[in-house]
Amino acid sequence: MPAAMNPCDFAPDYIRAIAPYQPGKPIAELAREMGLNEADIVKLASNENPLGISPKARAAIAAAIDELALYPDGNGFELKSAIARKLGVALDQIVLGNGSNDVLELVARAFLAPATSAVYSQHAFAVYPLATQATGARGIEVPALDFGHDLAAMRAAIREDTRVVFIANPNNPTGTLLEADALYAFLHAVPRQVVVVLDEAYGEFLDADRQAPAVAWLAEFPNLVLTRTFSKAYGLAGLRVGFALAQADLAGMLNRVRQPFNVNSLALCAAAAALNDTAFIAESKRVNDAGMAQLTQGVQAMGLDFIPSFGNFVCVKVGSVESQAKRENPAASVFQALLKRGVIVRPVGNYGMPDYLRVSIGLPEQNARFLAALGEILNATPRPA
Ligand SMILES: *Cc1c(COP(=O)(O)O)cnc(C)c1O
Repeated sequence: MPAAMNPCDFAPDYIRAIAPYQPGKPIAELAREMGLNEADIVKLASNENPLGISPKARAAIAAAIDELALYPDGNGFELKSAIARKLGVALDQIVLGNGSNDVLELVARAFLAPATSAVYSQHAFAVYPLATQATGARGIEVPALDFGHDLAAMRAAIREDTRVVFIANPNNPTGTLLEADALYAFLHAVPRQVVVVLDEAYGEFLDADRQAPAVAWLAEFPNLVLTRTFSKAYGLAGLRVGFALAQADLAGMLNRVRQPFNVNSLALCAAAAALNDTAFIAESKRVNDAGMAQLTQGVQAMGLDFIPSFGNFVCVKVGSVESQAKRENPAASVFQALLKRGVIVRPVGNYGMPDYLRVSIGLPEQNARFLAALGEILNATPRPA
């Protein structure tokens, strides 16, 4: 065997081709790099809840610490029961995940393999291509329509070998929303052997009249998988917990490839407590609505465009600014300049949006810090309101 052989050379081509996920920069890392105080850094990069953790979840965690020597409940009975009560589904329709990321991977692992394909949209959540590629399946990226999902084109892209379609609603990073009627018509049009994943990670931020009745659709569509997370409105991103809902057969398929103890015991009890903290969710939405107005009005006053968003983040176009226009990745220099000022946002060049920065909605003073720093960088004089 030649001396230069390396185990990495024998990883399947489809694994070696994966471009690793780029997470938002942690506060501690920026503090180290720039010599800044952590307390002076504002992170608006990962769509986290600026209110922190729900008080009910905090109390549940404190009470559960004494049990940490024991394995968690591998069936997640308490959390599943809380979800079942709240959403009106049966226990065997629920699959718990170590974040909803985990359940997205379970779908990929259960249904995708080499010589199959998955369909998703351009500018859609990065985990869809990642989870697809890791199975050796082909990813079919459908061009977006006004930054959102083009459902007609996605339907047309489904082939004989397609097993899964991924849809984020609202979508991250663009914040676009599909109407319930259009989604329902899409579900009717998709062949029943193709799994449709409807990822509602940001559903709690929608006004009630914009929320699709997707849980009710489960009875009608044996190929529908809904995913939800505790990472965003519920403020538990660090604990890693989310879930999928589907008909029992399909849920059983996902449970076959799930690690027996994939959700830790603190996450299980915190999520069960957070699920019923309706006051916290309402406050999260109120803070988000106000912050969205503050941020979008602020960037508009600087003459910048943004993509209207239904999530807890917004993509702002900074690449059109004249001084940036000639650069290859125009938003990257604005991103760097924001970092120097202690403000972390998310560049989305890897999403095919090199002119944009995605900014998570923060508390009023955090949003103001971002706007002030951006104004300085662009040297734009805000127009009077
Ligand atoms: C943040 C996000 C998730 C949730 O990820 P977790 O693994 O639950 O933290 C899922 N889908 C989309 C589109 C997201 O933006």
